[in-house]
Amino acid sequence: HAEKLGIEVHYDAMVTGIDIQNGEFKSLRIGEHTVSATAFIAAAGGFEANIEWLKEAWGDIAENFLIRGTPYNRGDLLRMLLDHGASQIGEPNQCHAVAIDGRAPKFDGGICTRVDCVSLGIVVNENAKRFYDEGEDFWPKRYAIWGRLVADQPGQVAHVIIDQKAKGGFMPPVFPAVVANTIQELAEKIGLDPNVLAQTVSSFNNAVQPGDFDHTTLDGLHTSGLTVNKTNWSRRIDQPPYSAYSLRPGITFTYLGVEVSEKACMKMADGTLSRNIYAAGEIMAGNVLGQGYLAGIGMTIGNVFGRIAGSEAADYALNR
Ligand SMILES: Cc1cc2nc3c(=O)[nH]c(=O)nc-3n(C[C@H](O)[C@H](O)[C@H](O)COP(=O)(O)OP(=O)(O)OC[C@H]3O[C@@H](n4cnc5c(N)ncnc54)[C@H](O)[C@@H]3O)c2cc1C
Repeated sequence: HAEKLGIEVHYDAMVTGIDIQNGEFKSLRIGEHTVSATAFIAAAGGFEANIEWLKEAWGDIAENFLIRGTPYNRGDLLRMLLDHGASQIGEPNQCHAVAIDGRAPKFDGGICTRVDCVSLGIVVNENAKRFYDEGEDFWPKRYAIWGRLVADQPGQVAHVIIDQKAKGGFMPPVFPAVVANTIQELAEKIGLDPNVLAQTVSSFNNAVQPGDFDHTTLDGLHTSGLTVNKTNWSRRIDQPPYSAYSLRPGITFTYLGVEVSEKACMKMADGTLSRNIYAAGEIMAGNVLGQGYLAGIGMTIGNVFGRIAGSEAADYALNR
């Protein structure tokens, strides 16, 4: 579409340097080439693929994170803008992080590695213990907290356990489940202590209160008396075969970015607005997302601010 409009597109063109003077964009470097322009829109993603930068915020556990998208979003342009005086917004450790299948590749596993049956079962850590309410709220409102929750567990690993009743009730992930006819056998297959997992499942089952299961509403079907209760969709895990999926934190995108005005114009640390630099998408996501997430906001930030930035940059270029 861009090409049809007469826009020149350069692929495999990594920006390696930028010239900004007093908040005004002059030119950028792509290897040997220098490109100057009247206005500039930064839309080069967050720094989620930059493990060293993630480690500054998370410590060494970031080595165990999987990156759900492109390996190229290393935050190089974001760093250049900040180094040239852009105002920073958002916390370095705030990000969209989903629990994804532990067998996913380090980068670019994509959406099919997501594991969406958490609210239909229980989640345990490497010690075979539950650690959070799996039924706190509807999955689209909660799926993006589970990456952080798993990141806080030993080894940054967890396992979701479901029984036959849950089958067919969620988007099937690309990797097959580990399946067994008893909880002990399942524990052995996934490397957990069989006695502890059996104890965790039986305590959970004994705590489930009666009621009608309905995954389309907050059905209030809860457990009672556990250290960590499940508040909705609690059903006994008692119908073999049992299935397990391993979970690891899958980072989708980071929130720290450059601060912008409502018109997507980049703000400088001294409080002034840049003359001709605009930003859209993950590189300015922190203006919208402080923490947490609601399904669809990632694309919305890119689309809404992309459109505003495009229109503002064109206005500037035509009317300056
Ligand atoms: C697996 C997955 C599932 C997702 N699911 C959803 C969803 O269901 N709903 C939703 O709303 N959002 C979702 N998102 C988030 C959403 O896709 C992103 O937030 C959005 O696409 C980001 O757009 P962007 O333009 O900011 O960055 P991107 O689309 O990531 O584009 C940034 C581009 O900049 C390039 N780049 C990086 N550094 C440089 C440099 N120095 N020089 C030149 N180019 C550079 C990169 O190569 C990349 O092409 C998902 C993301 C992933 C990874």
